[in-house]
Amino acid sequence: MNGSRQRLKIRIANSSGFCFGVKRAVNLAEEAVEKGRKVYALGPIIHNPQEVERLKKKRIKILADINKIESGFIVLRTHGIPLNIHKKLIKNKNISIIDATCPFVKRAQIIIKQLSTGINFKNKIVIIVGEKIHPEVVALMSYGKSGKCVVVENEMEARNFKGHGDLNIVSQTTQAPENFENIVEILKKQHKVKVHNTICKATFDRQRSAEKLAKSVDLMIVIGGKNSGNTTRLAQICSTNTNTYHIETVNGIKEKWLKNIGSVGLTAGASTPDWIIKEVEKKIKEISV
Ligand code: SF4
Repeated sequence: MNGSRQRLKIRIANSSGFCFGVKRAVNLAEEAVEKGRKVYALGPIIHNPQEVERLKKKRIKILADINKIESGFIVLRTHGIPLNIHKKLIKNKNISIIDATCPFVKRAQIIIKQLSTGINFKNKIVIIVGEKIHPEVVALMSYGKSGKCVVVENEMEARNFKGHGDLNIVSQTTQAPENFENIVEILKKQHKVKVHNTICKATFDRQRSAEKLAKSVDLMIVIGGKNSGNTTRLAQICSTNTNTYHIETVNGIKEKWLKNIGSVGLTAGASTPDWIIKEVEKKIKEISV
């Protein structure tokens, strides 16, 4: 046998896959099922279709509407839910709440609530830097005072912002730090601002380690739901550094990608479970042998 053929090197990003908040949410839901409880989730617990399917098989039912549940346990997902829905659930004595809102998201909710109810809030506006239609931001908005809480998505919106008064600026937990900082700098030119940085490090860490790995391998495979914003962002970052493919599962791998290369890097979004990453790694090993 010709010994000159080198084995394909597989490297996994230091920081990849389930983050603390997602791990906690999945564990809480599974523990409740194991205790024999009737468990519901308001919308998918995480942005990963395969993991949502696995949880469904464990009898965790996904609901789009709280009025469809008469009794049982309801898991609140990591990104939180609007305050009015939370209050409605609390009032229903037949429903028990398993609050899986990530503590980092909860912190942002508490900060917004405090900024919107303190004695000095009157002439101040709370700015949330984030995506208007993202469930986390929709929920965060509900903790602010109507008319005194505004979402700014990008630098153009920051430049066009016409509000009066001082600003308290918070961020969606998964915001890119550069976007947040640029928006703060623009708003600072016209207003007195106080910054409350509520960006979660998990997203940032995954992005930085994916970027580092992408710079040192021939190919990057990014694993995670196509509906997951943070996985898509990882794929974008990697693709600016090396040849990159975004797959949801092991079935997405094409053998031809691995031909004539020496190294492949793997990374995965915060909502991608370990078992999917392991399946992909195993398949690559099989192909390379
Ligand atoms: S990304 Fe951060 S804020 Fe979001 S669930 Fe994970 S740990 Fe929590």
